[in-house]
Formats: sequence, structure tokens, C-alpha cells
Amino acid sequence: MESVAFASEPDAGAADSHNLTHAAADRVAVPTAAAARKTGRTMSSPYPGQTPNIAGGPSNGYAAVPPGVSHPGPASAYPTAPQGARPPAPPTSHIGAPELAGLTGGDLTPELVQTDIWSDQMVAAAGIPIVDVPFVSVGGGIGSFVTVDYLRIAGIPTNQIRILSNIDKPWQTYEYLTRVSQIPRSERIRSDSASRPDNIWGFPSYALEEAFKDKSLKSLWQVLVEPIWADFYTPRAGMVFQNLEREAKRIRYWEMLVKGQVRMVRRRHGGGYFTVLTPPEGMASTKRIAYRSQYVHLAVGYPGLKFLPELQDFRTKNQDFHHVVNAYEDHEHVYTYLKSRPGTVLVRGGGIVASRVLQRLMDDREKFGLQTQIVHLFRTYVHGTHGKHVWLRRKGGNGFAYQGFNYPKSVWGGQLKAKIRKLEGPARAEAYKDMGGTNTPWRRRWQAQMNAGRAQNWYHTLEGTAESVAVGPDGKTLSTVKVGGGQRTQISADFIIDCTGLQADITEHRLLADLIEHSGVGRNPVGRLDVERTFELRGTVSGEGRVYASGSPTLGGYFPGVDTFLGLQVAAQEIADDLARRGFCHRIGPVRSISQWLKWATNQQI
Ligand SMILES: Cc1cc2nc3c(=O)[nH]c(=O)nc-3n(C[C@H](O)[C@H](O)[C@H](O)COP(=O)(O)OP(=O)(O)OC[C@H]3O[C@@H](n4cnc5c(N)ncnc54)[C@H](O)[C@@H]3O)c2cc1C
Repeated sequence: MESVAFASEPDAGAADSHNLTHAAADRVAVPTAAAARKTGRTMSSPYPGQTPNIAGGPSNGYAAVPPGVSHPGPASAYPTAPQGARPPAPPTSHIGAPELAGLTGGDLTPELVQTDIWSDQMVAAAGIPIVDVPFVSVGGGIGSFVTVDYLRIAGIPTNQIRILSNIDKPWQTYEYLTRVSQIPRSERIRSDSASRPDNIWGFPSYALEEAFKDKSLKSLWQVLVEPIWADFYTPRAGMVFQNLEREAKRIRYWEMLVKGQVRMVRRRHGGGYFTVLTPPEGMASTKRIAYRSQYVHLAVGYPGLKFLPELQDFRTKNQDFHHVVNAYEDHEHVYTYLKSRPGTVLVRGGGIVASRVLQRLMDDREKFGLQTQIVHLFRTYVHGTHGKHVWLRRKGGNGFAYQGFNYPKSVWGGQLKAKIRKLEGPARAEAYKDMGGTNTPWRRRWQAQMNAGRAQNWYHTLEGTAESVAVGPDGKTLSTVKVGGGQRTQISADFIIDCTGLQADITEHRLLADLIEHSGVGRNPVGRLDVERTFELRGTVSGEGRVYASGSPTLGGYFPGVDTFLGLQVAAQEIADDLARRGFCHRIGPVRSISQWLKWATNQQI
């Protein structure tokens, strides 16, 4: 399968290339360090420019600093000059810098690119400035946020942490992906209150908060009777984002954020790591900055978008990115077109994103009296309850496999969690296979809409494998699909929406590819980054230094469900516990936990 990398950037000397979603990060307009010096002001923020317009929409928007947030920004974020060789080990807040005169450019050299373990002298000789900070988190999405939240609650001050990221707000990528895949702020996300990424205690629940805010018992009643007499309660996306914003302000997130694209993490002679950041153009006097730290945490999210090969062929051959779209791309034009004239849409995939896209098509049909025809192609059509044996069963029907959440609930605290923690190699891969597979929640509204579509003959499903997509004689897309018994059929559609996947190989992500090649980390039984039970990357020890990782690139480890809010929080807790054992932060025991929860509840800044 072909894939498009989410985050990439050019090597030393190479021409800039823009990637699918984060390209605009490179265009962030920021005052230069020199300009700041001229005006006599220190740079008050590491990112006071334009927000990356990852949605690809018409507006660039203003830097996404939430209203009312002042973000003094670390003075050390973009140093103006490199350090010479330093004594071993990082852990103070930052290094000041001599002048740039005589430096060799501050970019990666072939020697650095090829060397697995760097010395301070090598980095200094390349003219790359060094910033010392004990803990660096790379990514700046929900995974970084929840990890840093734990560390702040465990007593680590903001000047000991830097979050290196190409986005402004931790929920930015998540909000983009949910919005384009038809979960705007007003719609409900998939997961419930088992995890609140803004609240490590998970109390009060989202349902309780909603009841309080709406002055209505509706959400509490739903929790009481779910899932028999009501669908599982889940919060609206907007509420999740508002809460994240509140917590980000409370822990002073923006004081720790440094904008830029991380190119690589390399081990350091004498212990610790160098994390190389490419700051936004014009923001720093050198092309790269090296963060020298004892600990590194990686939470870079999905490696990339995965397109079905025949759809990618169509797009490339016809240079048509309009009629064949991925659900994770902005594809509002499809819905706009359908409002102007009747049309046919072919939906591919059977997961929650397909359900969301169907809901949008059916909602619009109902709301605007449209005549949209929907053809839904499943590669594997699920007819009913299925599974390996009686204890491993999932409900299904009408093509879909049904499951409330994307993993069975016992992976978070029940028997599956205990079982997989002990499995190695092929046995673990097999266990992941058994509980994996595309699925979607059974929701009353979706069922009613699909039933109506079937009864009125405007929603059609079929099982088959698409072999090719071409432009038909009428100018529409024409898919050739192999159906049962080796028969072939052709489907003509105005648009094809691919809802099949976000997962690309980890090496599609440049930073992860570099890590595999140079850090000593291997792949786990399902091919992703191999992590210990503490989420430390196996094989990457550097003296007293440790690299941790969480989120989708680590799927296949001892703890399933990593790519969920709860999974990210479980990883964050393991990492914080490990760091406490190493003496970096306090353990969050009962006294700290209660006192910190009281601060959370009263929204006291820490
Ligand atoms: C549509 C959708 C719905 C989901 N719904 C739910 C749900 O309801 N409940 C649930 O629990 N989970 C859900 N998830 C899964 C998961 O919880 C979220 O995707 C979550 O945002 C993952 O967090 P993350 O930090 O791993 O990745 P992200 O939030 O994607 O953050 C990673 C960030 O790292 C940045 N980055 C990458 N490479 C670099 C680099 N080299 N330099 C600098 N920055 C870089 C990226 O720009 C990105 O913003 C959903 C996922 C999707 C796609």
C-alpha cells in the first residue's frame, strides 16, 4: 500500500518539500532572534506567527494561542549560537550561548548524519547550537500532552521540560482528523470517560460534567442504562477540546512548547541524547538546534496516511485529487457538490470513519432533501456474530463488525491486559490479530439511517475487492470490483471516499526511520517500535539516559490499546513511574494525588 508521510523535512542542503498535513508549519511567520534583539525585547513566545493551516482550508488563521494565554516562552528555545564541548550529562535548564561568528552553518554534516552516537564536539563543530534540558517530548499532540501533564503533576517545573512540535495546540492534529472525518466539535467522539486526557484522575466523568453544564440529567441517565437501553455515552468533541485547553493553561503548557520539526534523535557519548530540531524559517540563526537531554519521549502520532493502491494509481495517473479522496483529507467539496445536484458516492471501508461518512451523507440527504445514491463496498462483509471461539466473539451484521470501543474493554484493566503483558514474539502477534480487525460501534441512529436507505433503495452494499479505478465514458470514476465466484462488476460514482486507513509503516515517518537505523531500537512482533513494559524504547539506553515512546508507533507492545486517550495515559503513568524510580520526579502517591486533584478541581495553575 502506498502511503503519504505526515511529517517530513529535507536533509541538509536538500530542497524543502511539503508534506500532506503539516507543510504549513514550515511557513510559520515568526520574528527572528535578530529582530528581537534589535527591538531590545526578548522573544516573548516561540511561536507568535501564523498557525499551521493543516486543514488546508482558505484561512491561515492566527497563531493558535488560546485566548487569555500568556506564554512567556523559554528564552532558551532558539539560542543564537552553539556551545563548545560540554561536560557530560545535561540536566540543567539551558545553556547560554556565545556569538555565532566563525560558525560553520549550524546544519547537519554528513559525519553527523552517518554517525550513530554523537559527541558534543561533533555537534559544536557543525555549528549547531545546543540547548540543555533534562526532558524533551517530541510531537506535541495528545500523547505529549498527557505525559507532560503527569510530569507537571509529579512536580517537574516547566523549565525542565521542552515539547518540540510542529503544532500549536496539543489537540490540533486530533481536531483536524476528527473534523475532516466528520466529527466536528458538536459531534460525539468514540471513547467514553474511561479516559479524560485533561484529567489524570478521570473524575468527575464527562457525563457528570455535561449534566452539570447542561443542567440536565440526560447524560447521567444514558450512563445508567447503557448499552442495553441506550448507546454508550461519549462526550462531544468540543467539550474534550475545551477541557484540554483549560488543563494546558493550568500546567503552563505553552511555556514548554518550542515550535519546529524534529529531524532525528541520536545517542550521545557520555550519556543522554541529542534531539535535532529544525525551527521555523527565520526564527533562529541556525538551521538546526540540538536539544541535549537525559530523557526523550516520542509521541509523533500516525506515521502517515495509507491509500489503497488502486485509488493512489487513479490519483497519480489522472492527477485527480478531487473525485477520489481519503476520509482523513478535507473533502467538504464532496458534500457541497451533492447539495447542488444528485450524485453517487462509493464509500470504501467498514470502520468508524466509514460510519461517520455515511452518517454525514445520510444526514445531508435528510436535511436538504438530496437524492444521493450511496454504494458501500466492503472487502470483508460481516454477516453476523463472529470470532475464534465462544470467549472471543464480536457482534456483526450488514457488513460491519460491531464493538463499542476500538479494543475490547479488558485490554485496559482486565484479563486481556494481564495476558498480553506476558506474551512474547509470535504469541503476542497472534493475540493482536485475534482482537484486531476493523469495527465500529452499533449506534441506533446509524442503524435507522441505513435501514431507511436499504428500504428506499438508495443505500447499497456489496462485498468485493476493487481491482482498478478508471475514468468512465461519462467522465465519472469507474471501479472494477471482483465479487464472489470470480465475477466482476463495475461501479460508476461521482466520488470515491476511502475510509480504510491511517496506518502506514513506521519508516514512512522520517524521525522513526532514522531511529530504527541509528538508535538500536528494533521492531516489536507486529512491526512497530519495540517498547518495554515501561514504554522505554528497547535497545536505546545511553548511559543514564532513556528514550520512551507512546501512541500508534508502539502498537504491538505489552500493553494493547496504546493508540487511544486511555492508552496514552497508561503509557504516561508508566513513564512517570519509571522516571520517579530514577529520581527525576516525585512519585504520585495518595497525598500528592489528592492535593493535586484539589488543585485541578479548583483550576489552580501549577
Ligand atoms: C479520527 C480519529 C478519531 C479518534 N477518536 C478517538 C477517541 O474517540 N478516543 C480515543 O481514545 N482515541 C481516539 N483516537 C486515537 C488517538 O487517541 C488520537 O489519534 C490521539 O490524537 C493520538 O495522539 P498522539 O499524540 O499519539 O498523536 P497526535 O495527536 O497526532 O500528535 C502527534 C503530533 O506529532 C507531530 N509530529 C510528528 N512528527 C513530528 C516531528 N518530526 N517534529 C515535530 N512534530 C512532529 C504531529 O504534527 C502531530 O501533531 C482517534 C484517532 C482518529 C484519527
